[in-house]
Amino acid sequence: MTTHRIIIGLEVHVQLLTKTKLFCGCSTQFGLPPNSATCPICCGLPGTLPVMNREAFHLALKAATALNCKIASFTKWDRKNYYYPDLPKNYQISQYDLPFSSEGWLEIELPSGPKKVGIIRAHLEEDAGKMLHDEHAGKSDSLVDLNRTGTPLLEIVSKPAIDTPEEAKAYLEELRLLLREIGVSDCEMQEGSLRCDANINIHVPQADGTFIATPIIEIKNLNSFRGVERALKYEAERQANELRRSLDAGAWVVDSSRAKAFRDYAVIQVLTQRGSEVAKATAGWDERTGRTEIQRRKEEASDYRYFPEPDLVPVKVDAAILDKVRTELGELPAAQKARLQSQYGIPAYDAGILSRQGRAFVAYFEAVVKTCGDAKEACNWTINDLLSTLNERQLDINVCPLSPQGLGELIVEIKSTGLNKQRAREVYTAMLDGLTAKQAIDKLGFKVVGDEAQLLELVRRAIAANPKAVADFKKGKLKAADAIKGFVMRETKGMANTEVVQRLVMEELNRG
Ligand SMILES: [Zn+2]
Repeated sequence: MTTHRIIIGLEVHVQLLTKTKLFCGCSTQFGLPPNSATCPICCGLPGTLPVMNREAFHLALKAATALNCKIASFTKWDRKNYYYPDLPKNYQISQYDLPFSSEGWLEIELPSGPKKVGIIRAHLEEDAGKMLHDEHAGKSDSLVDLNRTGTPLLEIVSKPAIDTPEEAKAYLEELRLLLREIGVSDCEMQEGSLRCDANINIHVPQADGTFIATPIIEIKNLNSFRGVERALKYEAERQANELRRSLDAGAWVVDSSRAKAFRDYAVIQVLTQRGSEVAKATAGWDERTGRTEIQRRKEEASDYRYFPEPDLVPVKVDAAILDKVRTELGELPAAQKARLQSQYGIPAYDAGILSRQGRAFVAYFEAVVKTCGDAKEACNWTINDLLSTLNERQLDINVCPLSPQGLGELIVEIKSTGLNKQRAREVYTAMLDGLTAKQAIDKLGFKVVGDEAQLLELVRRAIAANPKAVADFKKGKLKAADAIKGFVMRETKGMANTEVVQRLVMEELNRG
């Protein structure tokens, strides 16, 4: 089959980090006993009135501003009507035609370079409760926990402008980093504080330059970023196969009279089945089987009979509020990455790794640079050694056993003595137990050999003992010099001053 184009749009729900729910005073704490954080308002009893949580609106404004969205000066609440056992009111308070924010973008980093993914809108709504199935012996029970009912959710809807499953994952990672950094959400997918629904279809090119568009499938139950990527890969393939089968069998027909423009560059052909457009559908993702299962026709907005929420007043946002929000945001990851690159002269890739670890990690790196004055070495040690130490010991940077000053002093020590990397790593490991660089070097008994006459003699012996390496070097294989340096390092048990050895080896090899 001809290569198709994948079209992905993501709907992300994040729980905002408020202490209480969106319209009542119940706790939003995760893991409380079932139905203990409920009241007449979030249980939807008649006669109760919701009151908007200001902090929730404030956090939502922060997120939308960080996502470069336009903020509406006037916004209102709407009822989205549907019946489900975990929704006692039979409606959810959400935002329909006047969301508080729209038209933003998020910049993501791809192997091909940066890309801005458009955001259609971000709006606030309340969460539903949770159904627990088959929890007890016999496995046929269904229970309802309303603790989550009324928790503030921010829904962020991307444009269908994500081109690959890998890009979808990068978008989610960047979004999570941003929302965590500005303190809007903890974005814990395992605890449900970040949830993602993915809309996907494919456009298959035709001989006349148009594309056949498969019906959009919305994939639910995605509970990891890896799962999102896998599900989208699977679903794109499944749609390609289904399209071929259905066209061959005559079940689907291309109806040219319904062709329409897609963005500003393509014309897409619509598929029909017995005269009507093939419907969009919802699918669940099964992590164990690695397959999507088509569940039901997808609801349209008209199915929900939206109408303005009569119990809540609209919200007005003025310039003073927006100014306050902007000053609170601080340095955002994308700006921080650009600054790290220009201020410290480190590569974009490294700046990206630093930035992705969060503000505390970046502050640590900057403190190391301050002590040692060498950004390149500070960057190498923090993103390689320190990061693997933190990962291995499952530690947060805030409780790192080695202070940034300590790491900075180690770098100074390495540069002044010429201690080689392998030995320096041993010093570093000893420092994790609380020693200073000098104490660790003393304890390990490391004495760097810096005496030039002594090292020169070793270099000459190494050259005499390695005629092949010398010949290779003269033929232009510069790597061959490593054999000479390796000889000297072995002879000194790794304690030769690496800078002096490097210089002497080059001088001797280039001599004649
Ligand atoms: Zn409540």
